[in-house]
Amino acid sequence: MSIKRILTLSIAILLLHQISGLNTQALAAGKEKPAKNIILLIGDGMGTSQVYAGMTANGGTLNLERFRIAGFSKTYSTEYVTDSGAGGTALATGHKTKNGSIAVDPQGQPVKTILEWAEENGKATGMATTCAMTHATPASFIAHQAKRSDYELIAADFLKTDIEVFIGGGYDHFGKRKDGVDLIEQLRKKGYRIAQTIDEIKEIKSGPVAGLLYPVHPPKWSEGRGDLLTESVIEAIRLLSADSDGFFLMVEGSQIDWAGHDNNAQQIAEEMIDFDRAVGAALDFAEKDGQTLVIVTADHETGGLSLLDGDFETGELKGSFSTGDHSGVMVPVFSYGPQAALFGGIQENTDIFEKMMKAFGFKKDQ
Ligand code: MG
Ligand code: ZN
Repeated sequence: MSIKRILTLSIAILLLHQISGLNTQALAAGKEKPAKNIILLIGDGMGTSQVYAGMTANGGTLNLERFRIAGFSKTYSTEYVTDSGAGGTALATGHKTKNGSIAVDPQGQPVKTILEWAEENGKATGMATTCAMTHATPASFIAHQAKRSDYELIAADFLKTDIEVFIGGGYDHFGKRKDGVDLIEQLRKKGYRIAQTIDEIKEIKSGPVAGLLYPVHPPKWSEGRGDLLTESVIEAIRLLSADSDGFFLMVEGSQIDWAGHDNNAQQIAEEMIDFDRAVGAALDFAEKDGQTLVIVTADHETGGLSLLDGDFETGELKGSFSTGDHSGVMVPVFSYGPQAALFGGIQENTDIFEKMMKAFGFKKDQ
């Protein structure tokens, strides 16, 4: 046998070996039990630079490093650069759509969200955010509107679902509306306890709970938001995990994006660390529970941030921004728990919806 032939053969054997290895892995992922619970945490505007900014300011490490499986998501919408409406819609429904859309397809038709699928399948559902509940990201999981700025229409869509817990801002879109309709009263009639502080939520033994803690948005972390997001995650998990059928919880670190729009690297780092603490709380629960899939990703990157210098001791950062808007780069995906292997590698943002459906074991033709 010539050297060349031996080489070709060994490469072929090596490749075969790799492919069969991948198959075994895929098979293992397929055979794994479905996830009882899914916690999806979205860092709005969180690219890899934002993650590293948080790491730098946090002394060189983050809870995100506890994940063993990572991948990337391709964030484009019907445009090369997505907004948070289309980005949220892709993750929530598996449809790429026009920017500004809230869980409707490019023709404006409503498309079912993973939160709605979870409700239909008997699971409890919840959302916790650092923005108004009616803002694009949470809205994409529960409302169906052609325009993300129709906050009052989005708020009304909350009443069409049976979401068990939501904690964030946006009280005014429910209770101080231009159209005079009192959705707070309607929520009460549906059985919701209305809370305006996190301490009130801590006193509530069981859901459903509408936590509308600010008129519109909660403040920036640097302006006194404190541990609100982490506490919201802990309370949401406490309330949702009472359901023996399992739950779906969406958590958003909303203001990483806003700091990106402001081209403020220090603020990105602060919001990133705050989001990472919430990720830590979700992982703590998942590690104990053993039946919870945790996914962390972003809808897009914001600011076109690159890091030119930094100091792990002082947490100082020198960031350079290429835009005041979103960029088109891929964003990270981290996963932990049952079915986590599905989320490794490079994927479409819409695949994350499909994979959550698969992880839950939901069938689309039911
Ligand atoms: Mg958002
Ligand atoms: Zn943005």
